[in-house]
Amino acid sequence: MKMSKLFVQTLREFPSDAEVISHKMLVRAGYIRKLTSGVYNYLPLMWRVLKKVENIVREEMDNAGAQELLMPFVQPKELWEESGRWEVYGKELMRLRDRHNREMCLGPTHEEIITSIARDGLKSYKQMPVNLYQIQSKFRDEVRPRFGLLRGREFIMKDAYSFDTTQEGLEKEYENMAQAYTRIFKRCGLNTKMVQSDSGAIGGSVSHEFMVITDTDAGENDVFYCDSCDYSANSNHAVSNLPTAKTVGDFASAQIIDTPNTHTIEELCEFLNIPASLIVKTLVYIVDKKPVLALIRGDKQVEETKLLNAVGGIEIRIATAGEIIEMLEVNGFKAEPGFIGPMGLKEYNGYPITVVADETVKELKNFVIGVNQIDKHGVGYNWGAELQLPKIVTDLRLVEAGELCPTCGQPLKVTRGIEVGNIFQLGTKYSAPMNAVYLDQNGKTQPYVMGCYGIGISRTAAAAVEAHYDENGIKWPLAIAPYHAVVIPVSTKDEQQMKVAEDIYKTLIKHGVEAVLDDREERPGVKFKDADLIGFPYRITVGKGIADGVVEFKVRETCEMSNISPEQAAEIVVTAVNNLKS
Ligand code: ATP
Ligand code: MG
Repeated sequence: MKMSKLFVQTLREFPSDAEVISHKMLVRAGYIRKLTSGVYNYLPLMWRVLKKVENIVREEMDNAGAQELLMPFVQPKELWEESGRWEVYGKELMRLRDRHNREMCLGPTHEEIITSIARDGLKSYKQMPVNLYQIQSKFRDEVRPRFGLLRGREFIMKDAYSFDTTQEGLEKEYENMAQAYTRIFKRCGLNTKMVQSDSGAIGGSVSHEFMVITDTDAGENDVFYCDSCDYSANSNHAVSNLPTAKTVGDFASAQIIDTPNTHTIEELCEFLNIPASLIVKTLVYIVDKKPVLALIRGDKQVEETKLLNAVGGIEIRIATAGEIIEMLEVNGFKAEPGFIGPMGLKEYNGYPITVVADETVKELKNFVIGVNQIDKHGVGYNWGAELQLPKIVTDLRLVEAGELCPTCGQPLKVTRGIEVGNIFQLGTKYSAPMNAVYLDQNGKTQPYVMGCYGIGISRTAAAAVEAHYDENGIKWPLAIAPYHAVVIPVSTKDEQQMKVAEDIYKTLIKHGVEAVLDDREERPGVKFKDADLIGFPYRITVGKGIADGVVEFKVRETCEMSNISPEQAAEIVVTAVNNLKS
């Protein structure tokens, strides 16, 4: 490809609306252009990268025994009603109507469709196990599309679905996919960590995510991990053992006392001269309009996904101060957020109030708690005496770094990660409600035991930029670079330089290297800047040195430069590219 013909417009500046590196770089280097919020054009360079990621995924999925198909992007409401997800999927599901007023949606994921395909064709236990996958655009009307390709509304995903007759079969395929994923991300030049995670809207019980570890803002997930063993988990799923804390208060008896101006846990601790671990903190959440109180030890935080799982629902948010005051009022109390407690709170917004307690509060004795009176708290309270322990007691706690590993007891560490893929053991979550069954050895109908396995193709490409860049631009891993090398004649007017550059370019192409010849009549500085920004893994510059038989060879990843012969330069690149194929 001649640079003069390549459809690419690099920009002088980073786009002002971009927050993270991959978004900034991909826009400035001419890979993507925004069409509308969370929707991007993939320009020729980006499309080459995406096709390479896709091909790696395709090769490894095929090698792992999966079969590719392609399902429609538009899906009918009826299948989503069968699974029960039409009601519960929420606003991320882009719903529309056709000319006959039939309701449809844009596919955010394809469990319903694949299950209906299996139901039609997979009738006997003899046909299993089978794993079917596709690579396709998805649409999710994300609340906060941001970070360019990392969280788009339209994005490209590989989604695979396995069908087995037994849980053991599913577990075997799950492991098979985990291994394929490890190979895929390694080939894409990414170091990933496989971490335990919450199963969320897709459902099922066991699931893991593949995280690209990055300490930048681009990592939307907190990953807790242990250096002493292999425990690692997304914060939405992580658990820990707590170091010992004071959980039995010294109060002589249960009573309500004055605690003036103690609106926060810190102020209350200071006033009473106690540690926060003696306080039962009451937090108010709104889950799909319904009021939920979460009780947790004063020194701990609530993990919202865990709370959402505990009560069931789609959207969760913390209540505003105004809502809390109103809730108190409706139930006959005149108080403020800092003094709230669960007693006597029955309903709000026309819904009964659900109370959930974190496990940490269960063991507290002689504790302190809000009693819905301004400037007062209950002290020396006990479950079963002054108030009842809520019916739902479960783990709601957000793990913190330094707490102890649930497996080996060593302190946990935390880092941020970009989720590039995930694997789920679905079980019969879709097959049972959709009546997707086969005949077993005894001629009895059984629902399939399913798994599903996703990889964000466009997110993986963007994550590769997050992991490989410097202030001058992208440093693509060779396997997914849009082109492997650029050949730059310093002066296009110099016949000898042009001739050598063209010869190298032709040699590279002949040996299967994807090369670009920068034949533009631009200043060398401009060409170098573009080469670094676009991120060609190798740069061969033909300048004055050619009189001495050398060209300048630059490796983008390390920025190492050397003067070597044109033949040597070509050979290094050809060898590296051939190694990719072996
Ligand atoms: P997240 O928690 O990041 O929203 P998810 O759990 O919704 O991801 P899945 O539904 O399992 O993700 O989708 C499989 C893969 O698709 C994810 O691992 C991720 O790589 C990718 N993906 C999901 N949502 C987006 C998005 N909005 N933009 C780009 N890629 C996405
Ligand atoms: Mg999501």
